[in-house]
Amino acid sequence: VIFPRPDDFHVHLRQGAALALYTQDLAANFGRALIMPNTLPPVRDPAGLIAYRDQIVTAAQSAIPAGGSFIPLMSFKLLGDMLATNIAPLKAAGAVAAKLYPQGATTNAQDGVAEIETLFPVFQALQDENIVLCIHSEDPQAFCLDREKAFLPHIRSILQAFPRLRVVIEHASTAEAVQFVLDGPDRLGATITVHHLLYDLDAVIGDHLQPHMFCKPVLKRPEDKLALQHAVSSGHPRFFFGSDSAPHDRVKKECDCGAAGVYSAPVALPLLAEFFSTHANQTTMQNFIARNGALFYGLPLPGDQPGAGTVELTEQPWTVPAQYHGVVPLAAGSTLGWSVRPITKGKS
Ligand SMILES: [Zn+2]
Repeated sequence: VIFPRPDDFHVHLRQGAALALYTQDLAANFGRALIMPNTLPPVRDPAGLIAYRDQIVTAAQSAIPAGGSFIPLMSFKLLGDMLATNIAPLKAAGAVAAKLYPQGATTNAQDGVAEIETLFPVFQALQDENIVLCIHSEDPQAFCLDREKAFLPHIRSILQAFPRLRVVIEHASTAEAVQFVLDGPDRLGATITVHHLLYDLDAVIGDHLQPHMFCKPVLKRPEDKLALQHAVSSGHPRFFFGSDSAPHDRVKKECDCGAAGVYSAPVALPLLAEFFSTHANQTTMQNFIARNGALFYGLPLPGDQPGAGTVELTEQPWTVPAQYHGVVPLAAGSTLGWSVRPITKGKS
């Protein structure tokens, strides 16, 4: 099966020496990715955004297969002290999305937003500049399995207050979030990760404690997983792929205060190929990874971009490595039914 090199609309590439390695793992298979801004310090101004993008572009070069390309789509982090006047310069620097983290919701979110309403002038500027608002939809005060659901009323009020603002619920993990998107307007979408699509909480604590499956939002109940699977296999256009691939060194996962995040960039495509081969079909898969998100964001489709290149998925067993540069990936050590073969020629 041959696809245009696909889009990943939610990925963490970190910073420092590891950034190059994580970028290369991603750029081997994906043609574009929305880069999350939760670095230290966060991506929050034009200079920081441009510097981070330059690092990623440089790092990707050695991993892009001949005849392909890799484009980092940049986001910035919304902070409580941000002003509406900060937004237009970020747009001019190339930002396509703003990321809202409720305070304390996930990695490096201690500086997240405590009172959403204080940011309404900024949301007005996002709407005026046609920047997508991406939301980590969890209320950190709620019980862990209820956090996503507890945040949905905030999203409803944002949608009501800003009638043209495009909003994405990132890494949707519950049946309630799926239904909220289905009931919502066309300018409301959701990304879905491969781990929330294929696993539930049993994979984290059902048998032995599996720190490499611990992420935020945490994996949920089987019926939540089924709701996500149904949304994806039905081909609904407002659900699209965002891996939330979030590498942490093995030592930061296997300890007494383990970090949240699943490293899925190197394994996402074979896992998705397995899922779609049994639950849907190739066209639905291509729409999920290389069409729906681009249309929602108003970007050229991956297959329409000159020189974007293609990726081939073959039904050839592949054993996932135990580690990538000290990070244990999703499905480490297991043998999958599909593997990725980057193609060395351009658009077919
Ligand atoms: Zn994330």
